[in-house]
Amino acid sequence: MEKAVEGRLHLADLITGEEAFLVKVLGHGAFRKRITEMGFIKGKRIKVIKNAPLLDPIEYELLGYRITLRREEAALIEVVKTKELSADSGAVFNGTLSEDYIRHTVTERSHNISVALVGNPNSGKTTLFNYATGKRERVGNYSGVTVDLKEAQIEYQGYKITFTDLPGTYSISEYSPEELYVRQYIAQSAPDIVINVVDASNLERNLFLTTQLIDMNIRVVMALNMYDELEARGDSFDYDTFGKLTGIPVIPTTASKGKGIKELLSKVIGTYENREPTARHTHINYGPDIEASIIQLRTEILANKEIPDLFYSRHIAIKLLEDEKTTIKYIASVVGTGKLLEMAKDETQKLEKLYGEKTETIIADAKYGFINGALRETYAQNEGDRIQKSHSIDTVLTHKYLGFPFFFAFLWLTFQLTFTLGSYPTELIDNGVSALGQVIKNSMAEGSLRSLIVDGIIGGVGGVVVFLPNILILFFCISLMEDTGYMARAAFIMDRLMHKIGLHGKSFIPLIMGFGCNVPAIMATRTLENRKDRLVTMLILPFMSCSARLPVYVLLISAFFPNHRGGVLFSIYLIGILLAILMALLFKRVIFRGRDVPFVMELPPYRMPTLRSSTRHMWSKSVQYIRKMGTVILAASVIIWALGHYPKSDNIENSYIGRAGHFIEPAIAPLGFDWKIGVSIVTGLAAKEIIVGTMGVLYQSESDHSGSNLTMKDRLTEQYYTSGPRAGEKVFTPLSSYSLMLFILIYFPCVATLAAIKKEAGMRWAIFTSVYTTAVAWLVAFIVYQTGSLLF
Ligand code: GDP
Ligand code: MG
Repeated sequence: MEKAVEGRLHLADLITGEEAFLVKVLGHGAFRKRITEMGFIKGKRIKVIKNAPLLDPIEYELLGYRITLRREEAALIEVVKTKELSADSGAVFNGTLSEDYIRHTVTERSHNISVALVGNPNSGKTTLFNYATGKRERVGNYSGVTVDLKEAQIEYQGYKITFTDLPGTYSISEYSPEELYVRQYIAQSAPDIVINVVDASNLERNLFLTTQLIDMNIRVVMALNMYDELEARGDSFDYDTFGKLTGIPVIPTTASKGKGIKELLSKVIGTYENREPTARHTHINYGPDIEASIIQLRTEILANKEIPDLFYSRHIAIKLLEDEKTTIKYIASVVGTGKLLEMAKDETQKLEKLYGEKTETIIADAKYGFINGALRETYAQNEGDRIQKSHSIDTVLTHKYLGFPFFFAFLWLTFQLTFTLGSYPTELIDNGVSALGQVIKNSMAEGSLRSLIVDGIIGGVGGVVVFLPNILILFFCISLMEDTGYMARAAFIMDRLMHKIGLHGKSFIPLIMGFGCNVPAIMATRTLENRKDRLVTMLILPFMSCSARLPVYVLLISAFFPNHRGGVLFSIYLIGILLAILMALLFKRVIFRGRDVPFVMELPPYRMPTLRSSTRHMWSKSVQYIRKMGTVILAASVIIWALGHYPKSDNIENSYIGRAGHFIEPAIAPLGFDWKIGVSIVTGLAAKEIIVGTMGVLYQSESDHSGSNLTMKDRLTEQYYTSGPRAGEKVFTPLSSYSLMLFILIYFPCVATLAAIKKEAGMRWAIFTSVYTTAVAWLVAFIVYQTGSLLF
């Protein structure tokens, strides 16, 4: 491609031995950052050590260090030659150039800004170009393969601004010569600023291109053109907020009347000089599946030093996932990229299988989700002609007030389903487990081995297996909400509320995921850009009652609240949510004070979930649970059984576990718990499913004597205190079991969650989380049990 602007000199053009001063670094943001960190700063002297026409990389000396750069990268660094400077006789003083003169020249050169106009056909690029530059280029639709660049330079506020009017495109991909041209131009000529000309009367379609510019991580200023038409229609668009959300400064323009052009030019200069607070790098969030693939590919791209830093790595990853031939060909031309391409193919196939659609479509959908979300928050159509068909569901589901009852209804429905639908298979499995225990009991001679199998393994693991159907249903409902796109709506309506507690709607998705399992939820906080937000979200996440706690609730609720099952369960979850809110408020006030960074809440298009993808998402969430049953829970059950079995005695209270339980009893008696519950709570530190398992082991041993084939539920209802001040009273009452459920909801997150917090935030925060949650748990259970005892 020909040089865009005459007279610009780049580092790659220098020959061996030549010296120059750095003027500026072009290219995408990540490249500029990296190069600047290496010491490439305006005005610094650089010398070519070795550069032959076919040699790659090229070797330079900068600040006394030797540095090598790829040829394509050196082509993105603008310089001015020392020779050129000294040719000017007045500049030489005793054979050396004066510092002032260098600074002056470099500054003057860096006051050349190249600007490219990018936008849809008929968005008004040429009109804007003509007005800004005083040229008379043909306005109107042009089509055809011939691409003629129009270029003109103006002076404005001490800057020389060179405009390039690029052909109109709807997208920057590979479907037309224009598209290919624009992307090549942006990468290779690397304009300092891209002005994205957007037709304000057709925002949704025009902004698609904008999302691609965001992916490319280049500096963009938006000309919100045809603003007169938007106003004439009576619509309102909060473009300032839109700019803050997307990180792109927006200036409304009416190019045909020359309105807004001056402001646009000032914005261009401000953005170029990094004075524009609105301008920042943002990401479009493509959802957990695609983001996971992007991270994988990106890591591989960054690891390969042969790939020139011409395009932003995330952009390449996305293009590879889209299976774009141009990008694949480009990457294939670089040595050592076989593994990357293989990986891209695998990831693409995986995603297409999962969604039953081309990755390109999935990614485009996510882009429209971003646009929808941003517009929903900033754009209001004139009341008169509000006839939006495709968004009619959203006007209800993301309505300012109506959205909430819908959301809570869905949540309530989920818990209701978890119970009603789950109770049938659960009962079957429960009876099966008891029957199996009975069969083994009858067929084996009495002894330690029989006790190990029946009380330890079947009692422990069996007690947990029973709840598998409930957990699968819960996970399926969560997956369904994610896959239909409803979860994003929930996050959207929550955004305003979340802001009140100092968080974003974006924190909401990890929080909802926490209902499934806290571990992936902690990892999902990575989608939050701000560390403070990430930490607060992580700290309150354990209050989102994960599925491992569900067995205890199901057990206790069906035993003691048979008539209000769904409601009681809902109340537990709700209390968790309320506590999370309180804690977030507290943390934001006390530990993490600071300003919020706004961003777009994506609203992806609604999608008919395929059974395949929802089942798969459900499965991937459940695998961890199932694996835990075979490992941690099995091991814990055996250990607990052993501690309860030895030293051998008729009474379990004399066993190791009995002694340990009695030791902690004073601390938990005020909460309404007996020593067996105490032991269960301690074993639950490892994983909360173990609580039920432990109760299964401990409460089994006593009712053994009756010889009857009782389910766990029945066994709990017939537990009495045998000694102490409460002797003769029932251990489990509705009050004590509610207190217990709250304690289990709140206290110490499991070891796996803490490990995840440690990994994401460090040991300090992991320890802090375990201590403060346990303290809160004790306090809440204490208050509930004591006031409850007074009342009833
Ligand atoms: P391009 O394809 O992006 O270069 O768009 P043009 O500059 O050729 O403009 C397309 C049409 O839109 C022309 O008829 C312009 O007169 C008209 N136009 C451009 N800017 C505006 C504007 O701000 N308001 C209105 N109402 N019309 C405009
Ligand atoms: Mg044009």
